[in-house]
Amino acid sequence: MEIIRLPAFNDNYIFLLVDRATGDCAVVDPGDAEVVLEYLSKEDLTLKTILITHHHADHVDGNRQLLNHFPAAAVYGSEIDLQKRRIPGQTVSLKAGDHLDLFNRTVEILFVPGHTQGHIAYYFPPLRPEDSGDLFCGDTLFANGCGRLLEGMPAQLFASLQQICDLPDNTNIWCAHEYTLKNIKFSLTVDPENEALQRRFQRVQTQRQRQEPTIPTVLALEKQTNPFLRCGDRQLQANLKTTDPLRVFTKLRGKRDLF
Ligand code: ZN
Ligand code: FE
Repeated sequence: MEIIRLPAFNDNYIFLLVDRATGDCAVVDPGDAEVVLEYLSKEDLTLKTILITHHHADHVDGNRQLLNHFPAAAVYGSEIDLQKRRIPGQTVSLKAGDHLDLFNRTVEILFVPGHTQGHIAYYFPPLRPEDSGDLFCGDTLFANGCGRLLEGMPAQLFASLQQICDLPDNTNIWCAHEYTLKNIKFSLTVDPENEALQRRFQRVQTQRQRQEPTIPTVLALEKQTNPFLRCGDRQLQANLKTTDPLRVFTKLRGKRDLF
């Protein structure tokens, strides 16, 4: 399975999962159908599956047009979003712990509410122990940041990020937005002593000057540099004047909203 990253709108990424042997593919969070259709026709691929992490327009607005071209494609999303009927064309309902088979890979469903109440993530464990797994986490975890609390409480998003932290450290994190540089600028205001963060800032600045993507990121790097995953860190706790990890998280999210 090959993963293709298609930029959309200002700062979204749509991911295509391609099985070159059969010409079949799946798409994750197609907010815009045009960029997807253009790639599919250029590469002569058949869309079989649409995987949706959550119902926001920038993640689902391409569904209808894609289904017009590929009426047999299945649309996966969470149980909650199906109940609320807020993912266009949704045909399959998923909950925590469900498994799918896709292109000879297993996919595990993580329920990660907080940004929205129905948010799920798609985890592809590695085929061989020496390989990395891949996580498609929508707007839950970002490179050096996390999603806004639009429908959830801090404790929910905190627990969702903790679930992601329990995945192997070499997991590739395919998040849905290119927010990395702004996230790092914020992180430096709360965690200025962090040398790994300072080095990441230098790297990401160079990447963005060259208009290179910073996604995927790797979980190990997030654990070193993403303040939202470092709420147990002594220095960060001292900087935020509380030793309670959930209070650290809540303060961070509040400050980031205003940054
Ligand atoms: Zn969203
Ligand atoms: Fe989004």
